[in-house]
Amino acid sequence: MIASPFTDQGLLRDGHLEIRLHGRGGQGGVTCAKILAALFARTGHSVQAFGDYAGERSGAPVRAYMRASDTEVDNRNKIYTPDHLLVLDPTLLGDDIVGGLKTGGTLLINTPDAPEQVALRFPGYRVATVDATAIARRHGIGSRSVVIVNTTLAGAFARAVDLPLDALAATYDSLGLRSNLPAAKEAWTAVRMAEPLAGDVARAGAVAGPPSVIALTDHTVGAPTGLKTGSWRTQAPKYAEHLAPCNAWCPAGNDVVGFVQALAQKGEAAAAAILDATTPLAGVCGRVCPAPCMDGCNRREYDGAVHIRGLERWIADHRPKLTAVPAPAANPKHVAVVGGGPAGLAAAHTLAKLGHKATLFDAETAPGGVLRTGIPGYRLPRDVLDREVEAILGLGVELKANTALSKKDLEELPQRFDGVVLATGLQRLTGLEVPGANLPGIEQGIAFLKRVNSGEPAKLTGHVVVLGGGNTAMDCARSALRAGASRVTVAYRRAREDMPAIAEEVHEAEDEGIVFAFWQAPVGFSGTGRVQGITLAKVEAGPPDESGRRRPVVTSQHELLACDAVLLALGQGRDLSLLPEGWSLETGRISCNGAALPIFAAGDVATGDGTVTHAIGDGRRAAQRLLNALGEAVTIFERPDRSAAVPVTDIRLDHFTRSEPAAPILESATTRAHHSGEVSRGLASLSEAHRCMSCGHCTQCDTCLVYCPEGIIRRKDGSYAVDYSFCKGCGICVSECPRKAMEMSAQ
Ligand code: FAD
Repeated sequence: MIASPFTDQGLLRDGHLEIRLHGRGGQGGVTCAKILAALFARTGHSVQAFGDYAGERSGAPVRAYMRASDTEVDNRNKIYTPDHLLVLDPTLLGDDIVGGLKTGGTLLINTPDAPEQVALRFPGYRVATVDATAIARRHGIGSRSVVIVNTTLAGAFARAVDLPLDALAATYDSLGLRSNLPAAKEAWTAVRMAEPLAGDVARAGAVAGPPSVIALTDHTVGAPTGLKTGSWRTQAPKYAEHLAPCNAWCPAGNDVVGFVQALAQKGEAAAAAILDATTPLAGVCGRVCPAPCMDGCNRREYDGAVHIRGLERWIADHRPKLTAVPAPAANPKHVAVVGGGPAGLAAAHTLAKLGHKATLFDAETAPGGVLRTGIPGYRLPRDVLDREVEAILGLGVELKANTALSKKDLEELPQRFDGVVLATGLQRLTGLEVPGANLPGIEQGIAFLKRVNSGEPAKLTGHVVVLGGGNTAMDCARSALRAGASRVTVAYRRAREDMPAIAEEVHEAEDEGIVFAFWQAPVGFSGTGRVQGITLAKVEAGPPDESGRRRPVVTSQHELLACDAVLLALGQGRDLSLLPEGWSLETGRISCNGAALPIFAAGDVATGDGTVTHAIGDGRRAAQRLLNALGEAVTIFERPDRSAAVPVTDIRLDHFTRSEPAAPILESATTRAHHSGEVSRGLASLSEAHRCMSCGHCTQCDTCLVYCPEGIIRRKDGSYAVDYSFCKGCGICVSECPRKAMEMSAQ
């Protein structure tokens, strides 16, 4: 910090500081007082800022006041004997302007004159000058005719009272004034002060005379008035959380705004603790989630959604290891979870965290489901998955891998366990019934991916055609390239915008050289002993189907495409043939001949939603529903109503400086397509968390406190308290709140 020559007796005299500002209507004097209040609030002081109202017509002299204290400010009088004076307009510089200014107080004037020159008129005071008008004009603040000097002069004042520049920068950031910061910084450097003239200090005596304006009342500084104006109020402000769109849009039920703000304010451990309450797979979702939260982000319309997925990955990759094992529940249940994909893992995690015993059965050698057998390592490295699976098992979950349960096994489970969560995913693959579909060289994409992911031989050569437009198709195409194909074409029967695949996957595939053929449907395969060609029919857009997408209408226009292999990625369905005789699955619960069993289904087998985040939310919900059915009082997570989320129109965007969203660092397309290492290295830093506007959630930015014209909002116990005995219910605090974390309500 630069040492200031201006303060030789500390920032606040006896723990209090009072400032009066003189300006003209339109120069921003009242706002200047509020900026100073915000600056002092940031350094931990209790503050007040207010103006003289009713005389604020343009050009008329206006006074504003700022009070800061080490203790709670409860004095609501005007300021009559300020410690410092700021003069925004040199034409107001009458001799009586210093009326009441304490001896030795600072008189900061916006003027091009040297301080020594002005000091001759005001002996006994520390006179500082800065040409704030010239600086503000140079920085284009205000118009040519009316230059607004408040933010510039506040910079000079910060220097005069030895407040650090970074506190100034943070204040301007939080008030949405970052663009004015360069001018404030220039003033911070340019302000000059005359030394008090020897002898003159003594001559000036103690406090200078009273202001020449006769006060309407004879208030004296110190005692608050007895006039409690709170009874004028017809409605009152209150602090209230509102649903953030990111939270409303997250199918896993993550407290997105919570973890992003925790990351920004407190770091990875605090953010991870919030994530742990709802998901065991932050590292997975931080890589492969389609991130509906980012679709909902209010910043999307402004300058680009906060890269929430990247931040989730950052937390997972930088968090401390989980060690705590939950205490057993008062009445522990033993639950069988069938299927170790994200739904089953989330169900087991939920049960274990609540102190119940979960035994996880999976047909594969290790749990993970599609995360292990389908999604390739270049998108989701196995050590990330293993780390998160290990943490779930570390909570006391018992694993029975290599255990494919049969119909009979399933039937016996209710006798062996208190309840069951069935999370077997989508096991039925969609084939093609066209001539030549059985030719060697045509393979289900899921089978190919499973071979690739388990390290079995999966070499491909020549031209590979992938049929489909979802994530499986993208993974097949990109894995085919890595498996040796010299050329890969993805044929899809609809348009690019209809593809269910995550948009980034499509871009990355394209960058790697994969070719897309839209509006093409396979109608036959040809070849001798092995597939050598595929016949694609041109497809036309028909009327919209139930999904809203245009229905594909296959035409008789055909084209033969030579190829060496074909991978089918045409979708998967649930396979309920595993259910024993008489069992049925409805709204996520299994019944036997109409009688409800303690068995809940979760994930793709229950909903077919088809994303990891949906599977996680659904796994949690199934575990909670099961516990409730078993007599445990557990709150069931229900997806929030998106329409209840804070809309962007309720956000004071002017408080947020526009900034480009951060993007993950990707390895170059030319090199990454030749190996199976992770394509994305994630975000370079956590700075993206600071772009979060915290919609509906208070960040303690002090805007309410600073803008309250009554000065009756103060910090209390990590939040704010309003002194309702003086609150007139004007609602300024609520309308100034940048993020809709307050509301007016009937008293
Ligand atoms: P699954 O992940 O399918 O897990 C089911 C588990 O049940 C498996 O482990 C299986 O072995 C086990 N099982 C089945 N039957 C039995 C039995 N009888 N006995 C014991 N165990 C059994 N979603 C995204 O959000 N982002 C993506 O990038 C993405 N990419 C994908 C890529 C591919 C190739 C595929 C196929 C899907 C992708 N998805 C993606 C979708 C996502 O993976 C699924 O929606 C999600 O995995 C469903 O989770 P689940 O737990 O319901 O089922």
